[in-house]
Order: sequence, then structure tokens, then C-alpha cells
Amino acid sequence: MIYLDNAATSKFKPRCMFDAMFCRLSDSANPGRGGHNDSLDCAIMVNDARATLKTLFGADDDYHIVFTSGCTEALNLAIFGYLADNIGGNVVTTVFEHNSVLRPLNNLLQRNVIDGIRYVSPSDPSQCVSAEDVAKYVDGNTRLIAVNHVSNVTGATADIERIGELANSMNIPLLVDGAQSLGHKRLNVGKNKISMLAAAGHKGLHGSQGAGFLIFRKDMKVRPIRFGGTGTFSDSLIQPEDAPEGLESGTMNTAGVIGLGAAAQWTYDNFDKINSHIGYLASQALYGLSKIDGITVYTKTLSGVISFNVNGVDSSEVADYLNDNEIAVRNGLHCAPLAHRFLGTEKQGTVRMSIGYNNNAYHVSRTLDVLEKFCKLPRP
Ligand code: PMP
Repeated sequence: MIYLDNAATSKFKPRCMFDAMFCRLSDSANPGRGGHNDSLDCAIMVNDARATLKTLFGADDDYHIVFTSGCTEALNLAIFGYLADNIGGNVVTTVFEHNSVLRPLNNLLQRNVIDGIRYVSPSDPSQCVSAEDVAKYVDGNTRLIAVNHVSNVTGATADIERIGELANSMNIPLLVDGAQSLGHKRLNVGKNKISMLAAAGHKGLHGSQGAGFLIFRKDMKVRPIRFGGTGTFSDSLIQPEDAPEGLESGTMNTAGVIGLGAAAQWTYDNFDKINSHIGYLASQALYGLSKIDGITVYTKTLSGVISFNVNGVDSSEVADYLNDNEIAVRNGLHCAPLAHRFLGTEKQGTVRMSIGYNNNAYHVSRTLDVLEKFCKLPRP
């Protein structure tokens, strides 16, 4: 199988991630749940992973990091946890958001916790959401700006640096969905004035599924969304709210988070190699797609996330044909319905090929050949 679905989860994982996970799984203990040496050793490794991830993303002592099951939980924690104390007012977000931002926000709107959601569309043909685009929607009642860094539909990339400056100048917290950008972009939460950064471990950071994190400023109150054992204040019937423990109730995915620390470090140690490889293959793919009659391409970046359609054909039909030819892509709406409203592809969806470190030039040229054949098939 030629795997071109790396935006769903990366196929390639570095050896150091398996070693770290194997080591933990074959010598399990529960961190923060005992005073014995095995538990303490494990807690030290979890804290090393926290320190590694904080350093990689420029989070100094002003920031907390909380481990989550993935980016969905990180975004839910950021949105429900922060807006719990900031009711009323509006939230400014973008048309490129994933349902893991759109659904929590709309749940808050339905329950009248917030008064409105404003969706920013990019004004530039590059599809880059700029600070100027965001500024048009922000006012004195804006409680939060939530921006997807790299779209999981088209790879459109928001100008986080300037949006961070805008948010900071207006004293409004900025939440960044880094699900598709981490590992592919260098982000520094301090310098980029990001108040909360939500991450998936299993995509560009090359970790396992089931581990992600939220980095957030210590001066922001983020309430727990999960209640239970924290290993702290066990005599109290009231949930402790101190980060990280108060926001990480329950036994954590210890092997996953320690593996994520190792995988993310490996990724940033090899950042240029990985991303120039992906950029090269993305330009090969975009050039090839532009030469095939009957294909519309929606992507404007070299991020490796490429959405396209065969004109007049449902995206599922194209993906099925590619699958029959041993090529794995994703079709449909990619859990980002407003992006499709923006692109005009609500009905058809798009075919998404997403390139990763596992891919090579043959994978791209073979996919282009199969697509060319598909486009030439007789149709009623
Ligand atoms: N945001 C974006 C942009 C995504 O692409 C995804 C995953 N498809 C998520 C959030 C949710 O991440 P996870 O599946 O790790 O919870």
C-alpha cells in the first residue's frame, strides 16, 4: 500500500519512539500514584517529556503543559476550561477549523455560555488567514481567538506570528490548533504570543495515537473538564484544579507521552530533512496534478496536505479507485465542514493526499499515473 494519509496519522514513527514505549510498557508503573521508586522513576520520565515538549515549543516557566489523549481533548480543555470563567461575549475563529473546535464552540453557543461565534475567511487568494482578516471580526466583547495553524483540508497556513501580535495588543487570548502544524512549522508560544497551543502527538510529531497536549499560560485559568483521581489532595471531594495534575485525572497514557517526548525531539532534530523532503514531494504532486486534465486542485501551499477533485466525480469514488490500486488517501469533508463551504466542495468533498516522511517520489508518480488513468475512464 502507498500510504498518503499522513494528515490523519503519520505512518512513519522513529525508532526512538518504539524504544521509549517498549521500555515503559515492559516495566510499567503508575506515575504520581505511589511513593515507591518505580512510580517515582516513571513520574521523572513523564516530567522529562513535559520539559522536552515545553522547550521545543518555547514554553518557559510562564507556561503549563497538560497531557491529553490527543488534540481533540486538548482543544476541548482549552475551550470549555477557559471559557467556563469567561462567559458572554463572542469567540473569533476561522472557516478552516476542525470540528474539535467548531463543536465545542457551538455547544457553548447553544447553552448561551457565549453570545456569538465569528468565522474569519481568508481574504488573500493564498488562503492564508492574516491578522488583518482576524482584526475585522474582533471587538471589545471577544473572549477568545481560536485559529487553526495549518488546515487539515488544504494545508492553508495562518499567519500566527502577526495574529499573535494582534491578540496580544488587544489583550485577548489566542488559542492555536497545532494538530497539523507541529513537526512541520517552528512555533514558539512565548515569542508568538500564543496563550494556548493544542497538539496531537500522532501526526507530524511522529508519536503514537492516544497522546497529545495543551500548553497554556499560567496566568490563564483553565478549569478541569475531567474529574477524578489526581494522586493529590485525595481526602478532598472537590476536584483540585492545579495544573498539570488537576487537569489530568485518571491514569495517563504513560508509554504514549514518554514516546511522544522522544518522537517530538527526534522530529525537531531532523526538522529540515523531514520538511524539505515533504516540500519536494508536495511540489512534485502539485505540478503533476496541474497537468492532468479534469482535476481541480484546492491547495496553495507545500505543506504536504493536498486537496483536489476529479471534476464532476464524488470524492469517495476517486478514493475507492485509488484504494483498489493500493493507494491510501482520504475523501469527504475531513471533519472541517466550513472549509468546504469556503471552497464550494460541501457536496463533493475533496480527495486529500497527505505526504509524510514515509513517502518517496515513486509514491507520488504512481499516484499521478493512477489518477490520470481514472480521469480517462469513459463516464456517462
Ligand atoms: N485539529 C485538526 C486540524 C486536525 O486535523 C485534527 C485531526 N484530524 C484534530 C484537530 C483532532 O486531533 P486528534 O484526532 O488527535 O484528536
